[in-house]
Amino acid sequence: MVETIHSDIKEIKEYAKENNVPIMLDDGINFLTTFIIKHQITNVLEIGTAIGYSAIMMALASPNVKITSIERDRERYLEALKNIKKFNLENRITLIYHDAVEVKLKEQFDLIFIDAAKGKNMAFFKKFSKNLTEEGYIITDNIKFHGYVDKEESEIKTRNLRGLVRKIKDYINFLKNNEEYQTIFYEVGDGISVSRKKD
Ligand code: SAH
Ligand code: MG
Repeated sequence: MVETIHSDIKEIKEYAKENNVPIMLDDGINFLTTFIIKHQITNVLEIGTAIGYSAIMMALASPNVKITSIERDRERYLEALKNIKKFNLENRITLIYHDAVEVKLKEQFDLIFIDAAKGKNMAFFKKFSKNLTEEGYIITDNIKFHGYVDKEESEIKTRNLRGLVRKIKDYINFLKNNEEYQTIFYEVGDGISVSRKKD
């Protein structure tokens, strides 16, 4: 049983590597799953499913967790569906195949995990914080954006990439200066932030 889980996870990771799917790094995923256990998280909203890797890892972390996850790419969504089925987690992971910008949810979540288009972090934070419980957390992945956030602008080759890095920096400042939310930044994986409403 445990061995099958291991080899199935390995397969998902190999698929991600071969198909350039940017799934969470190992220490990032460890941070996330440990966080879920430590804070007894029960209801997660994930923006950016990709092929379901992080959603599956979160579900495996605790039998008390259920996850709603949004993905706009059809091929990835279908691959995620397949993977979730393989783990028999259909009853705990619900996928929404849609652009998260347009998704409206009524449900409340005690963890919102933002891991989609990096230029839209701020928009997603503002939009989905309405779905966060009073004591809930918002976690954002790729705060360092493959190390680019720490680089000089002149070192970043394309205009596109410079624009994206600027947006991530804006998001970091938005979090640092936020009056409603307090944020801690972790140098783990590709950089992770954890935000929570101030008392
Ligand atoms: N959380 C995943 C990785 C997600 S990669 C893991 O660690 O396993 C980011 C994903 O977000 C991509 O698959 C991309 O298609 C999706 N995405 C980007 N912008 C989106 C949007 N506006 N709405 C929904 N999904 C989006
Ligand atoms: Mg990520």
